[in-house]
Amino acid sequence: MTHTIDTRCVHAGREDFGALGVHAPPIDLSTTYPVTDLAIGTASFDALVAGEPRAENPIYARLHNPTVARVETAIAQLEGAEACIAYGSGMAALTALLMVSRSRGGHMLAVRPIYGTSDHLLTSGLTGIDCEFVPADEIAARCRPDTALVLIETPANPTLDLVDIAAVVKAAGDVPVVVDSSFATPILQNPLAFGARYVLHSATKFLGGHGDVIAGVIACAEADAKPLRTMRAATGALLHPLAAYLLHRGLSTLALRVERAQHNAIELAQRLSGHGAVRRVFFPGLGSVRNDHLVKMQMRGPGALMALDLHGGHAAAAAVMRAVQLITPAVSLGSVDTLIQHPAGLTHRVLDESARQECGITDGLLRLSVGIESLEDLWIDLAQALDTALASTALAGAA
Ligand SMILES: *Cc1c(COP(=O)(O)O)cnc(C)c1O
Repeated sequence: MTHTIDTRCVHAGREDFGALGVHAPPIDLSTTYPVTDLAIGTASFDALVAGEPRAENPIYARLHNPTVARVETAIAQLEGAEACIAYGSGMAALTALLMVSRSRGGHMLAVRPIYGTSDHLLTSGLTGIDCEFVPADEIAARCRPDTALVLIETPANPTLDLVDIAAVVKAAGDVPVVVDSSFATPILQNPLAFGARYVLHSATKFLGGHGDVIAGVIACAEADAKPLRTMRAATGALLHPLAAYLLHRGLSTLALRVERAQHNAIELAQRLSGHGAVRRVFFPGLGSVRNDHLVKMQMRGPGALMALDLHGGHAAAAAVMRAVQLITPAVSLGSVDTLIQHPAGLTHRVLDESARQECGITDGLLRLSVGIESLEDLWIDLAQALDTALASTALAGAA
């Protein structure tokens, strides 16, 4: 545990390999496990249903799976947490947390913007929790006796706004704070160190890192993990062991991937700021995002995500998505390859028009997730796509 995070990325969750005599994580696909000693079986069943992290017999794969448990151990170590619980998606992780939080009350607070589907889940009332969206500096005043949870996302999807984790924790008082830290990864930010009770990741993004696994995780104290495990065993929002294997494999290069992608992003953000088609680049550290100073206070770097507001609005954004050749025009983020997408038309489509405006999600906004390709290849592709957009919108303007 005293190793640096780079070393932990490579070795965490592999502690039992020596005893097992293996070099790669075994994939255990069993759905059920023989119970030859009924007393041990019954005690194990009771322990797992009560949310214990393991038992002598795993009993049934909805209660425990060793391949999934290994990647949970690894991610807990990366976040400096006692425990981690893995789910079939980031949305399943958030849903589980909302359902567990219901026992503390039927009200919660959240700070916009957040990932579009998270916003939709909180607005829809589907989980029976009533969410109010408030500015971060109104949290203390808006907490009620039945407020069960405060949710923030920093850096926020898609505008890269930063939220002061320590200040929100202080304002929330006894109310637990969950930080969606998917954009930062444990390489750049550890929300638990600033007093957050839970950290949530869409592990589909940087943690998996190769665009081939959907997963979600929550890292927290062991006492908070128990009700989450009980909920997962009852509701079945599991991560499949094959997905857990891929996620664990992705973790070993997490530090390398984040550093390389961030290096590319820092330079691209500068160059894009000077391009004639771009009105504004939202990227932490450029002075263009809300609470920009926090990048130095709670993060170890600005990350690899940025948003570009184009002069040409929706038409220019659509033209860029049509014109990119190397870069993939697609939702999702945090992959080895660079992705570009239009939040107003895709990821944040589920927000109503006024909520999108409140969040600064304009029709000319594109979100760019920078990958690990060569910087110059990325720049050539972006510059030609933006030049094409500039030309086509100028033509449309002249017509
Ligand atoms: C993608 C994403 C989610 C949802 O995760 P899934 O794995 O797609 O369910 C939640 N929060 C953020 C910030 C995301 O980018």
